[in-house]
Amino acid sequence: MHYRSTRGQAKNYTFEEAVMAGLSPDGGLFIPHTIPTLPANWKSDWANKSFQELALAILSLYIDETEIPQADLKSLIDKSYSTFRADEVTPLFKIRDGFYILELFHGPTFAFKDVALQFVGNLFEYFLERRNKKETSGKVHRLTVVGATSGDTGSAAIYGLRNKKNVSVFILHPRGRVSPIQEAQMTTVLDPNVHNLAVEGTFDDCQDIVKTLFGNTEFNNRHHLGAVNSINWARILAQTTYYVYSYFNLLNTLNIKAASPEAEQVNVHYSVPTGNFGDILAGYYARRMGLPSSKLIVATNSNDILTRFFETSAYAKQSGPDGSVKATLSPAMDILLSSNFERLLWYLARETERDDGETMTGEETQLDERLADHAGQCVAGWMKALKETGSFTINKEVVHKARVIFDSARVSDEDTLNTITAYHRPTESEQVPYILDPHTAVGVKAAEEVSARHNFSLYPKGKDIIVSLATAHPAKFSESVENALKNSPGFDFNKDVLPTEFHGLLDKEKRIVVVDKAEPELVMAAIEKELKAEGIEF
Ligand SMILES: *Cc1c(COP(=O)(O)O)cnc(C)c1O
Repeated sequence: MHYRSTRGQAKNYTFEEAVMAGLSPDGGLFIPHTIPTLPANWKSDWANKSFQELALAILSLYIDETEIPQADLKSLIDKSYSTFRADEVTPLFKIRDGFYILELFHGPTFAFKDVALQFVGNLFEYFLERRNKKETSGKVHRLTVVGATSGDTGSAAIYGLRNKKNVSVFILHPRGRVSPIQEAQMTTVLDPNVHNLAVEGTFDDCQDIVKTLFGNTEFNNRHHLGAVNSINWARILAQTTYYVYSYFNLLNTLNIKAASPEAEQVNVHYSVPTGNFGDILAGYYARRMGLPSSKLIVATNSNDILTRFFETSAYAKQSGPDGSVKATLSPAMDILLSSNFERLLWYLARETERDDGETMTGEETQLDERLADHAGQCVAGWMKALKETGSFTINKEVVHKARVIFDSARVSDEDTLNTITAYHRPTESEQVPYILDPHTAVGVKAAEEVSARHNFSLYPKGKDIIVSLATAHPAKFSESVENALKNSPGFDFNKDVLPTEFHGLLDKEKRIVVVDKAEPELVMAAIEKELKAEGIEF
């Protein structure tokens, strides 16, 4: 399997090249040359596989044996998910008939990004070690990962890369502007290759500095800068597993065999709290591979560029009066542009051409190449327009087709809090009380809205089943959760929400480097000082 860029100027990349580069040189995102289909007998043969076994089966469709031998891929996967607290890695929780929560937060940092980043960290280490073994010149292949966080996602990168050979990780956060729990989650990781830089400034300052560093060829060449942002193909790929796994898990709990006509009678819908479109894109790939899913529900907060796209066919950047993103109670979804959406756009562009009556002559592969080139040109054009004018609009019919698969709803902060309250103290007696984090609450509320819009009738009375993805543990966003539940009789945050892993977290030893001013030169100096202390020569 090879990889190409969504903007058409790069193709035939190996999996390793696509993963290590992250972004294509033409500014596009890597996608596989073709989307593989699930094997003919997957419904029976895969039904009882563990999460890890299923991950191996799926990932093997995208990563050739010649690139990573099966035994190696298996141990990478096993190692990645051994850090999860749940045996099932991503268990399902039944809230009520026909409505399930897919818990993605049982990894080390209590958020869904662990599912991908635990794997990506091991993958980086594997590729670097292999390059070093082959290297005869004595040169050491290594990576300096640099990233910025507003607090909620930095820890997943840190936990994914801690203790990895030939990798150093630097995470910049705005000093004093992240919550105490989030700061502690990042800064109590004491591995020598982990460096937290607390920058005196805002999150935007931190992001700008990271961009400056990546643009500094001299610095970049000296330290081999790497990123682990959500556009990395390996992250999307790793996330496809839990869609397939939860499908089997769901049918198993309902005593329905996946390979039976009964299974075809149910419509499984996935609702996904969405920011950069990485999580839900994995659901799209799973569907394209052959997973029977009905609607994929794009749940956004008031940073709603995606919801507006599905409503209007226009993809238009819309910022607040000061040009910045709106701060909501679901901060990990606070985005102006949704980076992975470019991948979906490529598929939409490709399909229109096929249906526009492209004559099917010659080799199918040649046709595929022509369609792919056309899609690359479309996406490159749209992205150029976006950069220059802040928006572009695509053919209504194409969006209409996308709407067969996707639906979308935006959820306000007020509704987010109300949903947390309502699910904690359900009025219906058959509903099980559950404590949602604000991101998960956005997904749940959006699922309710879409369900009402299409008159879903939930199983077993009807055929519809909703699986709503839980992307964070409620303890991670304690302020909103406490706020929503403060009037719930008997609610005790420490007893009901706080996991034992968080006890005493604030008092643990921390390691942190303060950068007094938000200036790239100071950050570069801090990075080099820290690398020297790690014993790295450059
Ligand atoms: C990153 C994140 C999301 C959004 O996921 P995308 O892949 O960016 O759409 C939602 N919830 C939480 C808790 C996250 O950390």
